[in-house]
Amino acid sequence: MVQAGCEIGVLRLGHRIFRDKRVTMHAFLVSRAFGATSFIIHGDRDSKLEDKARRVVRNWGGRISIDYSGDWLKTVEEWRSRGSLIIHLTMYGMPVENTIEKIRAAGRLLVIIGGQKVPSEAYEVSDYNVAVTNQPHSEIAALAIFLDRFFKGGELYMQHEKARLFVVPSPKGKVVCRRPSMKESETASF
Ligand code: SAM
Repeated sequence: MVQAGCEIGVLRLGHRIFRDKRVTMHAFLVSRAFGATSFIIHGDRDSKLEDKARRVVRNWGGRISIDYSGDWLKTVEEWRSRGSLIIHLTMYGMPVENTIEKIRAAGRLLVIIGGQKVPSEAYEVSDYNVAVTNQPHSEIAALAIFLDRFFKGGELYMQHEKARLFVVPSPKGKVVCRRPSMKESETASF
């Protein structure tokens, strides 16, 4: 199960409005679907992306907040001062399978994911530098595996509160239920 009261922020470093909009959006979608409660974008301010992310929450539910950080070190210190562990996902870190037990004991986490170039301070300010294999891959994959290990698969059963759209699992085709008050035109994209 996803523990009630668990606060998990994902801090996406160095968003670039043109090059990263798809990757950052996918990092947001994974954060929401896999149980994070805050998604914080650092780098270029991208109000279109923020609006799109909020539309996903309006349609598909959940309690994740979407915020912007102009100063990621300040964001880290704010989370730390509220009792969060700071986790940095990096291929250079310690294996997730050896660190996740200790991390799971904390109810609050801020998970930093990088982009093109990660500032060296990220390694220093983090309580744990965590690797999902020591091979290069992607922040989206690393985040999904990390959250899944953190929740021991419980996020697969998570209900997203106040959803207006629901998928009815089906072996073939697409079945989507919409709350009666919702117009079809409101459901465009995701
Ligand atoms: N060259 C970048 C750097 O300076 O670290 C890495 C770029 S990588 C495409 C983008 C992000 O994916 C990284 O900052 C990290 O958060 C995540 N990442 C990639 N491979 C990872 C791995 N094996 N374990 C954990 N995170 C990983």
